[in-house]
Amino acid sequence: DYGSQTNQLLTEFSPEQEPITPEQKQLALELKQAINDDQLKLMVHPIVEINYRKVVAGEVLIRWRHPQRGLISPQDFIHVAEKTGVIYGLTRWVLSAAIQELAKWQQANIQCQISVNISNRDLLQHELIDFIAGQLNKANVAANKLILEIREGAITADPQQAHDAIIRLDKLGVHTVIDDFGTGLSALGLIRELPLKGLKVDRSFVKSLTEGDTAKTIVNTVVDVGRNLGLDVVAEGVEDEEVEDKLRRMGCNLSQGFLYSQPFDLAGFVSWTQQWQQKQKQKQQQTIEFK
Ligand code: C2E
Ligand code: MG
Ligand code: MG
Ligand code: MG
Repeated sequence: DYGSQTNQLLTEFSPEQEPITPEQKQLALELKQAINDDQLKLMVHPIVEINYRKVVAGEVLIRWRHPQRGLISPQDFIHVAEKTGVIYGLTRWVLSAAIQELAKWQQANIQCQISVNISNRDLLQHELIDFIAGQLNKANVAANKLILEIREGAITADPQQAHDAIIRLDKLGVHTVIDDFGTGLSALGLIRELPLKGLKVDRSFVKSLTEGDTAKTIVNTVVDVGRNLGLDVVAEGVEDEEVEDKLRRMGCNLSQGFLYSQPFDLAGFVSWTQQWQQKQKQKQQQTIEFK
């Protein structure tokens, strides 16, 4: 019962926080209900190795099937969940579902990692990591199959706590990447101290790659920073081959975007990835035969 974990939290606010509007409070209550009523649904978006176009991971993206309002995008409710504390139960629900999905992928012989978005407030919760360890254990999946995506702000808001959390995750074997990298830029000094696995270059930069030299310089710099620190660099929002090609030449190694596919539902991701791997195998077979 992930919804009930948030009972208390709804009334606990730090004084510096913006007040919650009645509409937001209503939405938060409905969201709590939604967690228990099976109204939340996960989509998966492939993350692809840029040179060989191998699917290496799937990012889990939440959707809310609201009984009256229809499908609601995370942009319209995650901030309310964060503000009201409902995020704690929500994140646990997502993590639990994602880890169960990982177990299914293993059975289907899909060798992908799963990447889960974590809110800034989640990272400050000490028990979250124990919860993750417990779920991995229960599902019998290896910790290094799980990636947590945290935003730059989680590191700059409370560097010490974030540092401790990322170290604990690393010890457990779980990978951490910085999401929407570049939008804060202030984390630059802090990231080299952390046992991170990668950076995800924000879509706003990637999108502007075809627009001229300034954007190119920024993306190039971010890719260089990541690669020089020995990190994976994922470009978000890759929509065409021209952009993919530019990124490849910059040394960016992973790519995600509508060029490869739109996000899938869980079953869709499994069959798409299997087909993709099959195609890839046939291609390799052909090049071997032609040699
Ligand atoms: P994000 O983590 O940066 O996720 C990437 C978003 O960009 C997704 O939108 C995805 O559909 C979209 N995207 C990926 N490639 C392309 C592309 O080529 N073109 C375009 N136009 N869009 C692309 P989505 O699913 O609406 O998610 C928005 C944000 O909501 C996410 O941004 C993430 O910050 C948050 N979010 C999603 N699921 C969760 C969750 O389970 N927990 C938390 N805390 N946040 C979540
Ligand atoms: Mg993300
Ligand atoms: Mg992102
Ligand atoms: Mg983004």
